[in-house]
Amino acid sequence: MNFIFLGPPGAGKGTLAAAVSVTYGIPHISTGEIFRAAIKAQTPLGCKVKAIIDSGALVGDDITIELIKERLSQPDTKDGFILDGFPRTIAQAEALEKIAHIDSAVNFDIDDTAVVERLSGRRVCRKCSHNFHVVFMPPEKENICSLCGGELYVRDDDKPEAIKHRLEVYRSQTAPLIDFYRAKNLLKDIDAKPATEAVLETFKAAFPVQ
Ligand code: AMP
Repeated sequence: MNFIFLGPPGAGKGTLAAAVSVTYGIPHISTGEIFRAAIKAQTPLGCKVKAIIDSGALVGDDITIELIKERLSQPDTKDGFILDGFPRTIAQAEALEKIAHIDSAVNFDIDDTAVVERLSGRRVCRKCSHNFHVVFMPPEKENICSLCGGELYVRDDDKPEAIKHRLEVYRSQTAPLIDFYRAKNLLKDIDAKPATEAVLETFKAAFPVQ
């Protein structure tokens, strides 16, 4: 199955995509993660997008579409994939139609208050990129990754001003994709407010593993 995961930042798309990727044996493709890896490695792409990402704005459509086109041409995507964070604009969704067939766009639905609570408490491992939450998923030792021992940090775009900006960007540029995919009968709404395990069960019931 070829999935798109939609929903505001903080809906838990990344965490769910990681779990779905294991259960269904298909790759989890996160454009945000690809950009962050490029920033960490200080590649030309990383240097170009760092300030944009830190502010909570969107990277240009052309760069992002090229990136996804290249990623979806790789052989590990032939039996399915999960796109997490792409498309984020109607232009990206239209470009995607020419690149790949999509079976379902899953909309992880959650209100703004819960989003702010989740994002402001998120901590990410510098080494392995695993996500924690100070309240909902705390590491065993404060600021240390329970998986690899790496240092945990707050993403620049999880700081209050950037969160506000990301939510505005989501409402104006990305939320219209919900109607875009609904009109194509590809949309599946899932309530993202419950704990990850419960949301994952809802997902598995909606899309039984083949
Ligand atoms: P995410 O990890 O999905 O929250 O993405 C982090 C940041 O990467 C976003 O706030 C954007 O600046 C950038 N980004 C990720 N995916 C896209 C996309 N499809 N289009 C434009 N910018 C993106």
